[in-house]
Amino acid sequence: MKKPKACTNGPRHKWKFVKDIAVKKMSGCANGFSTLSITAKGVYSCECGAKKCGNPHGGIQ
Ligand SMILES: [Zn+2]
Repeated sequence: MKKPKACTNGPRHKWKFVKDIAVKKMSGCANGFSTLSITAKGVYSCECGAKKCGNPHGGIQ
């Protein structure tokens, strides 16, 4: 993981919700089977250009 950059617009990032995204994840290969699970994640961005993932706001569009 990269160290988050300090905000250029203030002492802290002001996270604004952008959108929800679907994150696909393969998990479990213990028995030769893998399960595809899809989770929703929220994308947030700051005015300085920084982005982060957080809790989703609603459903996946
Ligand atoms: Zn910022």
